Amino acid sequence: MRKINMRIRTQTPIWTGSSKGYSTSLKMSGVMGGLRHTFEALIRKFGGHTCNITNNITNSTNSCIYEKESSICPACAIFGTTGISRAFKLNLDLPTVSVNLPETDNMIPNRNHKNEEYKFLCGLDSWIASIIGTTEQIIKDHDQARRKLLNIKVAFSSEVANMPVIITRNIHEINIEKIIKYLLLFQSKYSGLGAKVRQGWGMFELIDVDKNQIKLDGESELIKLIAKYQYNEVHDTYFPNAKDMFAFEWQVNEDQRFNWDKKYTRRHPYKELGFALNFRFRRFIKFYKVDERGDLPIDQQWKNIIHGSPWDGVPWKKSIAFVRVMFGKDNAGKNDKHAGLVGTSHLYQKDGNWFVKFFGRIPESYKYRSTGQKLTLDYNEVTDFLRNNMEENILNGVIPETRNELTGGNL
Ligand SMILES: [Zn+2]
Repeated sequence: MRKINMRIRTQTPIWTGSSKGYSTSLKMSGVMGGLRHTFEALIRKFGGHTCNITNNITNSTNSCIYEKESSICPACAIFGTTGISRAFKLNLDLPTVSVNLPETDNMIPNRNHKNEEYKFLCGLDSWIASIIGTTEQIIKDHDQARRKLLNIKVAFSSEVANMPVIITRNIHEINIEKIIKYLLLFQSKYSGLGAKVRQGWGMFELIDVDKNQIKLDGESELIKLIAKYQYNEVHDTYFPNAKDMFAFEWQVNEDQRFNWDKKYTRRHPYKELGFALNFRFRRFIKFYKVDERGDLPIDQQWKNIIHGSPWDGVPWKKSIAFVRVMFGKDNAGKNDKHAGLVGTSHLYQKDGNWFVKFFGRIPESYKYRSTGQKLTLDYNEVTDFLRNNMEENILNGVIPETRNELTGGNL
């Protein structure tokens, strides 16, 4: 067993919990799930393939079973599977805090099928509370939502925390330590720790590391790992690939409130606005075409998905497939519900300044769940479109020249 001391600082709280979505304490199993997911995407970026242990895109699993070393995929080699343990452990101990979300958003109201704006404000805390727990009960009342959210505890400290990495198993000729450091660095740039990362939770940074060295070492070890575990089953076509990932970070003006709900007050060195901003951006894009702002970066196939449905003829429904793929499908049946491809961080502090991050992935082909159709996306067109509109129309007030741009899963 070898122990490496990593040091991290959480920028926004980490949400980990049960499959029902409750977060009550920091559970490292929840952190591991997200790391494995990203690790698999990195393997695909470098030309490898993985088994299907965590993904639900195909509605079936075929995870590796360890018989001899060559029988498993590179992800199971590090994260373990039936017959072989995980090659490392992470320890992280952080205090927990409760959550404090804005209640409503008064910007960009939702609309009915005649394109008329709803008079009531768009609910935020009630929306989040509805999807937590054992029953999917729609909550409309803010007091009820607050009571439910009171049970949630997320893990956070603005102080630097130790996160020891313990290597529990060796792999001949592979330096696992270098791989884990690279994975953590990648996760800090393109994602976060734990669950609900695309709603703003789990942003973090590594402290006192040589990023260029980690990248150099990590990439070469990853290539060696993929060559060693020759897993060639190609059933992961639609699974996340790190080459499709992007992350844009901006500095935010100190006094920027994004026209927020006056009742929302910040008690911590972060502002829990990730979900709210992402949801606002969702509505902005949903009505983008009918508001004649321009065209969406999608071809006719996307717009034609509603042909023959009861919604054919509803003005903004031509955007709906794109909006659902980007931001997730709400209000859907159990088999039809899916997470979106993009997310927005909460506002966080670095060296006394405020920042926000918008991140995700844009795959060149996407299988649309409801119809089974294969749709295509242009990475550059879509990321340009999202970045520009996020910067100019949703985050108006960020400082454009501070934009830090990562694309193609590059570090
Ligand atoms: Zn596997």
